[in-house]
Amino acid sequence: MRRSGSPSPVTDFPSGVGEEARAKPPCQAPVLRQAQHEGLQAHAPRPTDLARAAARPKPQGETKPHHPNGPHPEPVEGRGPGTTKKRAFSETATANACKGAGNPPGITVIGAGVAGLCTAVTLAERGAAVTLHERSESLGGAAASWLAGGMLPPFCEAESADASIVAPGLAAIDWWESRVPGVMRNGTLVVASSRDAGEIARFGRRTSGAQPLDAEGIEALEPDLAGRFRQGLHFAAEAHLDPRRALTALAERFERLGGTIRFGSDVTPEAVGGDVVIDCRGIAANAPSLRSVRGEMLILRSDEIRLSRPVRLLHPRMPVYVVPRAGGLFMVGATMIESEASGGPTLRAAVELMNAAYALHPAFAEAEVIDMKAGRRPAFPDNLPRVTRGGRIVSVNGLFRHGFLLAPDCAEKAAERVFGPRTREEIAA
Ligand SMILES: Cc1cc2nc3c(=O)[nH]c(=O)nc-3n(C[C@H](O)[C@H](O)[C@H](O)COP(=O)(O)OP(=O)(O)OC[C@H]3O[C@@H](n4cnc5c(N)ncnc54)[C@H](O)[C@@H]3O)c2cc1C
Repeated sequence: MRRSGSPSPVTDFPSGVGEEARAKPPCQAPVLRQAQHEGLQAHAPRPTDLARAAARPKPQGETKPHHPNGPHPEPVEGRGPGTTKKRAFSETATANACKGAGNPPGITVIGAGVAGLCTAVTLAERGAAVTLHERSESLGGAAASWLAGGMLPPFCEAESADASIVAPGLAAIDWWESRVPGVMRNGTLVVASSRDAGEIARFGRRTSGAQPLDAEGIEALEPDLAGRFRQGLHFAAEAHLDPRRALTALAERFERLGGTIRFGSDVTPEAVGGDVVIDCRGIAANAPSLRSVRGEMLILRSDEIRLSRPVRLLHPRMPVYVVPRAGGLFMVGATMIESEASGGPTLRAAVELMNAAYALHPAFAEAEVIDMKAGRRPAFPDNLPRVTRGGRIVSVNGLFRHGFLLAPDCAEKAAERVFGPRTREEIAA
């Protein structure tokens, strides 16, 4: 079952994909380059549905706004993407209100994915009265965030992403650790089979922050991988968390801070109330040039193997990672497919992910398959997130494969759009 001479879905990929993946993708990179890093993207890209926005169901069931600190008057000025004059008025008014010149502003956040929850918590920590609307009936129902690996790997990600993600990515580790339990600072282990040893050298050249490892070094970090790999890299400063636990803890923190979450509330930024509206709808937002990068993942349970950190298994065509979680669970991810398709995982993805897990350690052959899902990562052409403001609407989107890594930084930027930059005293506090 390991990658042998017999034909398998793993080896049936179109030629040339690996070569594409080796080139560091520039902004606006072609599909396959963008797609390689996170996992098993080697599928032929599917046609992008340019009519996505038109086909998307219209929001229903607009709910009346509610502010935990009492009703706020509907703003008249600065509503929607209005004129420059109106926008300036609105931003000044909300910034003043937040600096103590009046009542805290009533802020509406739409979307309880990682972007929305980080932003809601950041705003609530700064004294705003925040209401968070989520169209699902519970956390994670339709959020890409629920399917994430929970890796916080700024150095590894810079292998294929813009280097500007490293500093905010490192800061995110502290952000999460100071707000939710279960942040594991054990680093990331990167390995490759002997025949793919060149992949380790290539990965090392394109990244920083790694210590090279031999077989003994790998065994010292992960005893269950003893004898399986001869070369590796350890990115000691990286971390990981369980996204489902982290988002649940973040939602609880938000409510302790006085925030309100309205589940089952499908709203639009234009129609919902609030002095300022933060649009964190992920791929459901109609943002120009936002596209979907589909990711399939599975969760396994095994008592046969123990890992202490995310392990990335490099391969020219099918890199994969395995992230350990409590209770013998392992998240295996993930495909990277340029596609608007919102259905469940394909058989091909299932086979590839399972093969890759088995290639990392044969004990996974006996693992129980707990969950298998597909999500849609929201991405802009340069694969970097954007925080923008038009009138009273602030948009936080495009977190691509870096939702947990970059949402804290985006949340801070969103707060600046609402409150203005932090004063020196606020930063010191
Ligand atoms: C398989 C996979 C693995 C990943 N692994 C990692 C990883 O290890 N580390 C990392 O940092 N990132 C990872 N990512 C990327 C990360 O998951 C995304 O960047 C992130 O989830 C995007 O967050 P978001 O809040 O913008 O969108 P979402 O998580 O999709 O949240 C949007 C929310 O808005 C709600 N919503 C939409 N429309 C409305 C409406 N009209 N009214 C009310 N609510 C609405 C949705 O229901 C949803 O809850 C991974 C992604 C995938 C798919």
